[in-house]
Amino acid sequence: MYALAIHGGAGTLPRSELSTEMEREYRAALREALEAGRTILARGGTSLDAVTQAVVALEDCPLFNAGRGAVFTHDGHNELDASIMNGATLAAGAVCGLTRIANPIALARRVMEHSDYVMLSGAGAEEFAALQGFAFVPPEYFRTEARWQQLQRILEGDRTLSPLTISHTGTVGAVAVDTHGDLAAATSTGGMTGKRFNRIGDSPLIGAGTYADNRSCAVSATGHGEKFICAAVAHDIAARMRFGGRDLRTAVHEVVHQELTAINGEGGVIAVDHSGAISMQFNSQGMFRAATRDAESAVIAIYDT
Ligand code: ASP
Repeated sequence: MYALAIHGGAGTLPRSELSTEMEREYRAALREALEAGRTILARGGTSLDAVTQAVVALEDCPLFNAGRGAVFTHDGHNELDASIMNGATLAAGAVCGLTRIANPIALARRVMEHSDYVMLSGAGAEEFAALQGFAFVPPEYFRTEARWQQLQRILEGDRTLSPLTISHTGTVGAVAVDTHGDLAAATSTGGMTGKRFNRIGDSPLIGAGTYADNRSCAVSATGHGEKFICAAVAHDIAARMRFGGRDLRTAVHEVVHQELTAINGEGGVIAVDHSGAISMQFNSQGMFRAATRDAESAVIAIYDT
C-alpha cells in the first residue's frame, strides 16, 4: 500500500476569477506532479523520493508560488523557502531566503542528508549549495509577468488584491507513505507577495509548515504563515494523533477548523498517516490539491465541491 497527496496552495480565489482554461492548466500541472511521485511509490521507492519529485515538478511549473513563478518581495526580488522531513528518522532539512536555486526542495533535502544542520538561510545556504555542486540560476529565472503585475497592483494600493490571497494560490507541498510504511513531507514556497525585511513564513519551519513522524502522520501546510507558525500547525496535528488518540481526519479538522479559525488563520493542510488515510482540509475558499492511493484513480480538486 502507498498513498500520496500534493497541494498547490490554499486561497480565496473566487471561482469567477479562475477561467476554465486556467483551471484546466492547474489540474494538468497537479496531475503531472502527482504522477511524478506516484511512479516512484508504485515501484517500491521511498516516500522521501516521492515527495521530493512531486515538489520539484510543482516548483518547475510557473503557475505555482514556488521555484519558477514565485511571488515577488516588496523590493522586486524572489526569496524562496522550503523544508522536508523523514518520518522514519525524524531527520529534517530546511532552507530559506534563497535567490538563485531553481529547486529549493532539493537543497533542503541536501541539508537534511549532507550537513550537520537542519536549517540554512540566505547567502550561507547558497554557499552550502555551491559546495554541494548545485547549479545556480539567474534571479530572472523565477520571474513571471503575472506575479510581477500582482506586485505592481499591491504597491499601487489596489485594495481588490490582498497580498495574502495572492500568495496562498501557489505554495506547494507533498506528503506520502510508501510501501515500506515510511512517511515523508515536503513544502516549498516563494512566501507572501510584497514581503519585506527577509520575512520567513511557516513553510520552511519544521513543526509549522511541515512535519512527518511514522508514529502519527505527515503534514504539509499552506496559508497565512504567521498564523500557522503561532499555531504550530503541522506538529499539532501529529501530536493530537500521537498523544490525543485522534484519527487523522479528526486531528486535521480540529487544527484547521478550530485552532486556526480561532486566530483568523486562513489556509489548509494535506496529511497522510501510516495506514494510507489521506486528509485534505482547508478553511479558505479553495485549495489546489490532488491525491492517490495504490492503483486508485487520482482525485484532483480546487474548490470544496
Ligand atoms: N504559508 C506560506 C507563507 O506564509 C504562504 C502560503 O502558503 O500561501 O510563506
